[in-house]
Amino acid sequence: MKDLRFQGLRNKLVNQLKTKGINDKKVLDAISKVPRHLFFDEVFQNQFAYEDVAFPIGQDQTISQPYTVAFQSEMLNVKKGHKVLEIGTGSGYQTAVLCFLGAKVYSIERQKPLFEKASIFLSENGYRANLFFGDGFKGKKVFAPYDSIIVTCGAPFVPNDLKMQLKIGGRMVIPVGDGDVQQMKLIVRSKGDVFKETTYGEFKFVPMLKNKNN
Ligand code: SAH
Repeated sequence: MKDLRFQGLRNKLVNQLKTKGINDKKVLDAISKVPRHLFFDEVFQNQFAYEDVAFPIGQDQTISQPYTVAFQSEMLNVKKGHKVLEIGTGSGYQTAVLCFLGAKVYSIERQKPLFEKASIFLSENGYRANLFFGDGFKGKKVFAPYDSIIVTCGAPFVPNDLKMQLKIGGRMVIPVGDGDVQQMKLIVRSKGDVFKETTYGEFKFVPMLKNKNN
């Protein structure tokens, strides 16, 4: 019964996302299938899991708003088997969406408690992603190059290490800005060190953390 109700709420959310301009069928399918409520503490599941809002997940962090997850996922243009690097695992919801889209996901989280929680949760729920505790500014060179890179925290600038870990033709979606609000940027590596940058609208993310040592 509960599952049916949650499915109904997901369908409603998908319709909202369509009216907000998301039209990639595979992305909408992922939103309609991945059980976002499981990424919430049980007490909040009913009321908040399928609202189109960001929500606290502890450690002063948030699970991204569904619209943002869908928007970034659509921009990545994920194909089955693509290698995708995610910066900011957080709750693991975006990671799960990328897995659902058929990506081979590498995801880095700067905060140990979130890294540990997401590692256990994702594997218990059958999402096979490669999770790392570390600093997203540096990316993960050993597994580079990536078909795409998604940054899910507000970056003060576009880290050069991340650009250099993109395949030729690879795409990075990154919210850039120091304050409360960031500009969503799409960066495509067209040749060796030639990058094409396009700026989209404003989004709100928690900041990308620098110099964190624990
Ligand atoms: N994709 C997540 C969004 C979480 S919010 C989700 O769907 O839930 C952003 C996350 O980025 C937070 O968990 C935060 O701890 C993490 N983060 C911040 N700075 C980081 C850095 N330098 N490297 C890796 N992760 C970072």
